[in-house]
Amino acid sequence: MNPAPAPCLQDRFGRRIDYLRLSVTDRCDLRCSYCRPKNFDGYAEPADWLSFAEIERVVAAFARLGVARVRLTGGEPLLRRNLVDLVGNLAALPGVQDLSLSTNATQLAKHAVALKAAGLRRINVSLDSLDRDCVAQVCGRDTLGAILEGILAAKAAGIAPIKLNMVLMKGINDHEVEHMAEFCIAHGFILRMIEAMPIGEAGRNTHFLSLEAVRPRLVERFGLQPCSLELGGGPARYWATADGQAQIGFITPITQHFCATCNRVRLAVDGTLYLCLGQEERFELRPLLRDGASDAELEAAIRSAIELKPNKHEFIEAPGQIMRFMSQTGG
Ligand code: SAM
Repeated sequence: MNPAPAPCLQDRFGRRIDYLRLSVTDRCDLRCSYCRPKNFDGYAEPADWLSFAEIERVVAAFARLGVARVRLTGGEPLLRRNLVDLVGNLAALPGVQDLSLSTNATQLAKHAVALKAAGLRRINVSLDSLDRDCVAQVCGRDTLGAILEGILAAKAAGIAPIKLNMVLMKGINDHEVEHMAEFCIAHGFILRMIEAMPIGEAGRNTHFLSLEAVRPRLVERFGLQPCSLELGGGPARYWATADGQAQIGFITPITQHFCATCNRVRLAVDGTLYLCLGQEERFELRPLLRDGASDAELEAAIRSAIELKPNKHEFIEAPGQIMRFMSQTGG
C-alpha cells in the first residue's frame, strides 16, 4: 500500500504555501521611519488579540496542512508578555519543523537563553546601521547599545543562524554597507540587505535605493560569488565570500520581485490572515476560533483563504495602494 500523500496547501497559481508569519502583537517600541506612520494610534484592541491557545490552534491547523515553517513577528514580538511560553508550545507542535523569530533585539538580551531553551532555532534581527546617531534617527530611539547587547546574547545562547536585516536607504545608510558586511563576517552573522517597500505612508516616504546600487561594491570588496544557498525558504538571493565562509543575502521586492515563488501567508494579531504584503486580500479567522468552529472547519477555512492569494504585488504599478504598514500585517 502506498503511504498517504503528505498534506499540502497550494494556491490557484500552483504555489505551495508552507510558511506562516505570525504576528503576536502590533505594538513596537521603535518608530522606524519606513514602517509606522507618525502619530499612528489605530492599534488592535487587546480583546481582539488572539490568545496563546487560539494561536496554537491555528498553527496546529496550518501544520496539519503541511506548513512546516513558522516565524514569530510583529510589531515587536518580544513585547508580548510570556512569549517564551508560546515559543515552547509552538516548537512542540507536530509538523512545525522550523520556528524562528524576527525581532529588533532591544529586549533580546534578557530573553535569549530562555528562547533557545524553549526551542527557538534561529532569529532575524533588524539593524539598519552600526552608527549610534543613524540608528537613533531611523528608529526614533537611541537604542544601538541595547540591540548589540541583544544580538551578542543570542549568539552566546547558541541561537543560529543569526541574520541581520538592513533596509537600504539612500543618503541614510548606503555608505555603511561595507561596514555592516565586515561586522557580520567577523561575528558569523548573515547580512541581508532589503529594498524598502512602499507599504503604508511611511514606507512610501522612504529614500528608496535599488540594491543594484550597492551590490557591485560588495562583490568587489569581498570577492562575492552567487551561491545557491537555501537559508530558510525566503526570497533572499545569497552570495558567498571568496573563501565560502560567509554569505550576504539580497532581497529585492521592487527591482526583481519574487512573487512567482511566494510560499507564505501572514496572520495578524487579531486573527486576520493576509495573503499578500502588497494586496488587500484577507480572511478573518478570529470569528471561527471564537464561534466554536471544529478543527475540520478551521482547516477548510484556511484552504479557502489560500484560494484568495493574489498572483503578485503591485508595488511598482500602484505604489499608493497599501495603506497598512508592515508592523500591522506582521512583517
Ligand atoms: N520588530 C520586528 C523586527 O524589527 O524585525 C518584526 C517586525 S518588523 C515590521 C519586520 C521587518 O520589516 C523589519 O526587518 C523591518 O525592517 C521591515 N520593514 C518594515 N517596513 C518596511 C518597508 N517599508 N520596507 C521594507 N522593509 C520593511
